[in-house]
Amino acid sequence: MERRKFLKNSTTVTAGLISAPILASCGREKTTVAPIQDSKTVLPIVICTWNFENASARAWEVLSTGGTALDAIEQGVMVEENDVNNQTVGKGGRPDRDGNVTLDACIMDKDGNCGAVLAMQHIANPISVARKVMEDTPHVMLVGKGAEQFAYEKGFKKVNLLTEKSKAEWLEWKKTSKYKPIINIENHDTIGMLAIDENGDIAGGCTTSGMAYKMAGRVGDSPIIGAGLFVDKEVGGATATGVGEEVIRTVGSFLIVELMRQGKSPQEACVEGVKRIMAKNEGRNDFQIGFIAINKKGETGGYCIQPGFTYRTYSKEGHVNNPSNSFLGT
Ligand code: ASP
Repeated sequence: MERRKFLKNSTTVTAGLISAPILASCGREKTTVAPIQDSKTVLPIVICTWNFENASARAWEVLSTGGTALDAIEQGVMVEENDVNNQTVGKGGRPDRDGNVTLDACIMDKDGNCGAVLAMQHIANPISVARKVMEDTPHVMLVGKGAEQFAYEKGFKKVNLLTEKSKAEWLEWKKTSKYKPIINIENHDTIGMLAIDENGDIAGGCTTSGMAYKMAGRVGDSPIIGAGLFVDKEVGGATATGVGEEVIRTVGSFLIVELMRQGKSPQEACVEGVKRIMAKNEGRNDFQIGFIAINKKGETGGYCIQPGFTYRTYSKEGHVNNPSNSFLGT
């Protein structure tokens, strides 16, 4: 996948932010850890998983014109939800094994308020429905039909989320799959985004169509607060992409924020989060998980199990696709 490739020649390079690489032990092997940024404050700032250039640019547009981190998150990730060529998020996403596109999303604000929708069909912007759950209901999560009904009540339109391309691929999959979902490392391009606005307020969001050809009703980490996303204004935030079952087992994003609270840099915390997951999966190398994190000063980090992970940063310092080293080698 194009966005998975390291873009070492990104259009703008952050000057003077990168310190020397350090070596760290990751349990089974020695591996190089991605550079850690200096403690220079660069706010506002937005970061997101993978090379989602248009999404981070939209979020930056909101932040750089005085908008809130929460608005930047919603507007930013919606770009991917609306992009039918992105088959891992929103409309155009790959369906479950029965051919239904079911979407998951969550959002969290500076005060720890949060909202989520799980396994929701026929609605193109789950991040906005998640925000409505947060702002307009006493609940945190709405699931399936209930989420869809709530969305209609809030004025969202019913749409067909299954594009011809995704339908054709699903029909091909059915021919040989024996109806068996697999952990496919090439089907995980969830967008998780974290932003800090010029007031220093932090927010985060995460949205996905989940694992391709999953069982009906399967939900991964992405809409689960603490797993796919966690934000704490005293510390910073973290978000995940990859095999959701493994992220849930370690409550990954919460873990990373807590590690930063204990003094780790965002980069060190992401590395430790990946190490915890690998410790539970001794000998396995067939799955992918990447974390990104930001602390309240605006320092960022990202780390993955498999090579090829990048994360995008957008601040006054520039628009950068950061190659991130990985547990199994760069
Ligand atoms: N984390 C998502 C899930 O398990 C998949 C992804 O990141 O693409 O549903």
